[in-house]
Amino acid sequence: MLNVIIFGAPGTGKGTQSQNIIEKYQLVHLSTGDILREEIKNGSPVGLAAKKYIDDGLLVPDSVIFDLLFDRTSKNTNSKGFIFDGFPRNNVQAEILDEKLAEMQTPISLVLYLDVTEEELFKRILLRAQISGRADDTAEVIKKRIEVYTQQTQPLLDYYRQQGKLIPIAGMGTIEEVFALIEKEIDGYLGK
Ligand code: ADP
Repeated sequence: MLNVIIFGAPGTGKGTQSQNIIEKYQLVHLSTGDILREEIKNGSPVGLAAKKYIDDGLLVPDSVIFDLLFDRTSKNTNSKGFIFDGFPRNNVQAEILDEKLAEMQTPISLVLYLDVTEEELFKRILLRAQISGRADDTAEVIKKRIEVYTQQTQPLLDYYRQQGKLIPIAGMGTIEEVFALIEKEIDGYLGK
């Protein structure tokens, strides 16, 4: 299997590039943000519990995330691989993911780190807010999300660098330019 983590701050274009990647490489897209928004839309108890964290720009408790995510990995063991988008977001999540994938005998292949300046992040999210209607895309909540990212998620760069899996991708270009860099890395990994 080809298991890719798409990593980066909020607003770096993880969702957009994930769409390009799943189309080309036929991976199963696991976006914890999308999964949570779906739960909220359906009014499920999990969704209701998660909503207050999301609206405040905080991380949803790990146990909630694990239940939602590993239900989906176990249902897709015959796929070509997974793209993890918005997960892992802290050390515990990264360690549990490695354990789960070790059980499935299919480790993480690559961690694609989309590198974008903080100034650009704000611009992109505020632009997206005009169309997304997402309650967490307001200036105040974005600030909190970026702070949570810096404190809890960014340290994972070291975790994956130490595993030799971290691949920085210059994320400031156009969608097409960034995807071309991603394709080059994935194709290189696949030996194409
Ligand atoms: P973004 O990357 O733009 O912040 P996401 O759609 O990935 O947006 O996530 C939106 C919100 O969902 C996060 O701010 C957080 O509250 C929650 N969330 C998503 N993924 C996770 C996760 N792996 N762990 C905890 N909370 C999460």
